Amino acid sequence: MRRTPLKAMPFPMAFGFSFGADKIFAAISFRTTYTIKMLNKVISTVALSLTIAVAPNSFAKEVFNYGTFALGTLINVQTKNDTKEEADYCYKEALDEVNRLEDILSAYIDSSDVSKINKGRGTWVKINPETAQLLKLSLTMAADTAGAFDPTIGALVKDWSVDQPEHRIPKADEIHADIAKVDWKKIEVKEENGEYFAKIGDDQTITLGGIAKGYILDKVAELTTKKGCKDVLLSFGGDITGTGTNGKDKPWMIGIQYPGAKTGQYFATLPLDNESVQTSGDYERFFIQDGVKYHHIISPVTGKPVPATLSSVTIIGSTSAPADALCTALFVMGWDGAQEYLKKHPHVRAVLVNGDKKRVAATEAIKDILTVVVPTLEVQTIIPEKQETVK
Ligand code: AMP
Ligand code: MG
Repeated sequence: MRRTPLKAMPFPMAFGFSFGADKIFAAISFRTTYTIKMLNKVISTVALSLTIAVAPNSFAKEVFNYGTFALGTLINVQTKNDTKEEADYCYKEALDEVNRLEDILSAYIDSSDVSKINKGRGTWVKINPETAQLLKLSLTMAADTAGAFDPTIGALVKDWSVDQPEHRIPKADEIHADIAKVDWKKIEVKEENGEYFAKIGDDQTITLGGIAKGYILDKVAELTTKKGCKDVLLSFGGDITGTGTNGKDKPWMIGIQYPGAKTGQYFATLPLDNESVQTSGDYERFFIQDGVKYHHIISPVTGKPVPATLSSVTIIGSTSAPADALCTALFVMGWDGAQEYLKKHPHVRAVLVNGDKKRVAATEAIKDILTVVVPTLEVQTIIPEKQETVK
């Protein structure tokens, strides 16, 4: 079966690793599966993806490192176990779940629920419970972000095809016609006798590319935990969820990719305490035509890639899926708009990097765990709006 991007992001945007050890292990693979035990040397890397873990000899358990290509990106699984057999089991469980969910949620797989809904052209289509759950969450996120995140943007995503070899600049009248199709309020989901159905407007096309990877991370983490794999770091193209602890029995440490810098070069670090970190950026998936960069996050209002007032948005959350959608939405809102939103939502733990990559804005909620490691960056705090006090 052809596996193409759920969400176009071939390279990681954040990196999971452990600090402070003398023996650093780096593993890299692309389109191949690798299984490598911690070695007492640095394994040469290719500048595509870098996930570093450390397994000090003093601990009985080791961190085993696996990777493959799925969801249109590099999937990396690190799992801390007593034996390689246990680790292999955890990796297999994780990968089977990734493949199962990709098969139903990818707009690029003909037999997926998303493709069936799109082909349904306004009729009710039977779907899996997971698709229903994700569609409902997508609607909540669309409402919460005033449509900055809108899964009915599918026709525009296809027009631009930024993540495909056939990418192009669509004609103005095409864009105009396809903006008119964007309206998340036309998505309907229902349950009847334990079965799930969805329907969209007859001219609409949906894509879950802005949220599905986060959802799959959540489901995989849920499953691996249920199967007894307690200490797992999952990285899907740099969107990361960590359960348990790392090779030093400490929270997994994450580096956030510095936009525009070499892959693996991070501008900030944070610990991941049974949480997720998601990033949206314009620096990984784009094409350049006549000197102009066109990236993969589309404004539902203009039908075009959003102007580059931001270069990345990172959110840390207790689960991945809402954070994934919110990252995409904040990117659409831009540097000022995202900060306005975050002032009104003080619980959101977010870090923004501006378009020229010189300024960082972080919410108060993330300040205590975030360490910015690039000294030239100007860092500002997003102060929450004063809440009305009820007398
Ligand atoms: P992300 O990298 O998570 O920000 O997701 C980007 C992907 O989401 C794109 O490749 C599109 O498939 C899809 N997308 C682009 N713009 C939007 C938007 N405004 N709302 C929802 N999904 C979008
Ligand atoms: Mg997203």
